[in-house]
Amino acid sequence: METKYIKGVGEKRAKLLAKDLGINDVRELLYYFPYRYVDRSKFYRIADFDGEMPMVQVRGRFVRFAEEGEGAKRRRVGLFNDGRSIMEVVWFSGLKYIAESVVCGVEYVLFGKPSFYRGAYSMVHPEIERADAGRAPTGFRGTYTLSENARHSNFTQKSLSGIVANALETKYFQEFPETLPSEVTTALHLMPVRDAIRNMHFPQNTRDLQAARERFKFEELFYIELNILRYARRRSASIRGHVFGRIGHYFNTFYNNVLPFPLTEAQKRVLREIRGDMRHGRQMNRLLQGDVGCGKTLVAFMAMLMALDNGYQAAIMAPTEILAQQHYETLSAWCAPLGIKCARLTGSTRTKPRRDIDAALRDGSLQILVGTHALLEEKVVFANLGIAIIDEQHRFGVAQRAKMWNKGETPPHVLVMTATPIPRTLAMTVYGDLEVSVIDELPPGRKPVETWLRYDENRGEVDRLIASQLRQGRQIYMVYPLVHQNDKLNLKSLEKDLEYVREKYPHYTVVCVHGQLKAAEKDYQMQQFVSGEAQIMVATTVIEVGVNVPNASVMVIENAERFGLSQLHQLRGRVGRGADRSFCVLMSKYKIAAETRKRLTVMTQTTDGFLVSEADMQMRGPGDMEGTMQSGLPFKLQVANLARDGQILTRARQEAEAILAANPQLVAAEPAADATPDSQPDPAYRLSEEGLATLRREMRLRFDGQTDWSLIS
Ligand code: ADP
Ligand code: MG
Repeated sequence: METKYIKGVGEKRAKLLAKDLGINDVRELLYYFPYRYVDRSKFYRIADFDGEMPMVQVRGRFVRFAEEGEGAKRRRVGLFNDGRSIMEVVWFSGLKYIAESVVCGVEYVLFGKPSFYRGAYSMVHPEIERADAGRAPTGFRGTYTLSENARHSNFTQKSLSGIVANALETKYFQEFPETLPSEVTTALHLMPVRDAIRNMHFPQNTRDLQAARERFKFEELFYIELNILRYARRRSASIRGHVFGRIGHYFNTFYNNVLPFPLTEAQKRVLREIRGDMRHGRQMNRLLQGDVGCGKTLVAFMAMLMALDNGYQAAIMAPTEILAQQHYETLSAWCAPLGIKCARLTGSTRTKPRRDIDAALRDGSLQILVGTHALLEEKVVFANLGIAIIDEQHRFGVAQRAKMWNKGETPPHVLVMTATPIPRTLAMTVYGDLEVSVIDELPPGRKPVETWLRYDENRGEVDRLIASQLRQGRQIYMVYPLVHQNDKLNLKSLEKDLEYVREKYPHYTVVCVHGQLKAAEKDYQMQQFVSGEAQIMVATTVIEVGVNVPNASVMVIENAERFGLSQLHQLRGRVGRGADRSFCVLMSKYKIAAETRKRLTVMTQTTDGFLVSEADMQMRGPGDMEGTMQSGLPFKLQVANLARDGQILTRARQEAEAILAANPQLVAAEPAADATPDSQPDPAYRLSEEGLATLRREMRLRFDGQTDWSLIS
């Protein structure tokens, strides 16, 4: 139904609604929800205003008016007295109308945002109503997003809520159909759609408002999940996968004779899950999540052996050269006793060895290829790639994952590994069709990294720690925020400190790794440290991902206040990989904001990745973070919020699964034919690469516990 037929709209306002607010019909008007609510029974005192307040209500009388300024700056200023104190109320437009209709002596209710200007509070263009007009205010009043232009056209909050109220009186609304399956609304006691719409606009109390919001949150997430599941089912029905029926020589020999330590229970469980995926003729798409140091590489290797035992090749892709090199060394050491041929391919691989690799890949004699995104190049052709492993996914986009799939007629099984703690249900939403495995256990004997927060004046203590660890034969990382000195930034730089460190520890070898070095140089330096020839590594955050030197026992991070918590956690994960005591020292300026100090203190209190990311999210505050996070999604969420509505998401997924199980014909139906337009995801519902990155960054966060689920079930 067109909006112009609603009482109080007409042609002109219908155009304004469409153009300024994107409201094209009555349905969209009904779903144009307020973004905030104000308790109408609550009146504020001018004396109680503070700078942070949103819209507030005050009651009082004008005592005087004056016109001030010239030309464009002309304004009408009223002095408003709430019985105790006085504030200015200012109008810049509609002066004539205001002069005629707003008078002294009458009691008014003003509704606006207090602004602090020249030492006093005032209100600019508040909404204004005679206190004796109509009923005494009850319930809550919503605030809608309005455009600048709408405001200039005298289209106010009141105009919009008036129109919505009229829309609720139409036959169209009376007959508005329920948009969720009745079995779902009944089972979960969800508020029916018409009641929910009414309560979104004109709630009488918080309980009704909550119930309405919960309903729409559920609905949005339900249809998204439904579509994701349909997509995943269709895909798994149409894409075949290699069948690895056999556990054979390689796997068994490695497990029984080479593996130097027992697997953790979590590693065993994940291997069983992977094995289960790979024996059924469907392509595996699995996300393996586990905190730094939990032993993902080993799991990856054993999954590769399953492929090799069935006559297939395997590949593992890392986000950096250093990491690829490290994987190569780890895997080579494991491969050697098994007689497995393993090679490394990166952007810096020279032509000759590269030609050999290409040939051996094609004839199948090369069994395991380790590399960077160089593996994705088209000229890299496998004889029969059985499994592709992607380490530290956040540096890779979905598009790249797909490129791995396309290497061969039947796509390889795909295992994506990450240390980012994404809640399971969320990962399913973000990655759509990825199954999730979690390693939630560290190898035994690990001692938590002792984490210190220290200031420049404590450097003596830190130096003593370093010296004593060096004497015990251990290795040290020192991480800097900058490579080169920058006089504008008052930060430590690697370049400047390098010589100083070398002078201070003349009996030890110091290497240096940063992003501006040539790959070969970086590798060489890194190698010195990995082999133990160098005892001190001075670096930037390029070492953040994955590097494994169990003998390293101290991580010193300069200007730690400049790093995010998650990043600090990743860095800290570079030490504490052996069984001995290890230390992470966060060096910071003494003068830091209280918030920053709190953030750094969290690091000293826990080594649990989930807790760290939770704290990160809480401290950075939901506000801007939710903005960026939500904007990274391939679908629009109007009411639901992935950061906070984890429980609803889980429930929505369960319901969607049940519905699909009961109605298999839905899988084949046209995309989203059954979804409401508002919650319809992009049919491909894929994240953009940026979106994915944002989400993964922001998702290290508080995810549940925020929703009072009792409101629904
Ligand atoms: P991440 O999960 O961060 O990639 P790694 O795979 O690099 O962790 O493993 C970290 C260290 O733990 C490695 O030195 C690895 O050999 C060791 N490790 C892995 N699994 C076990 C285990 N079950 N018992 C003891 N050490 C293990
Ligand atoms: Mg790793």
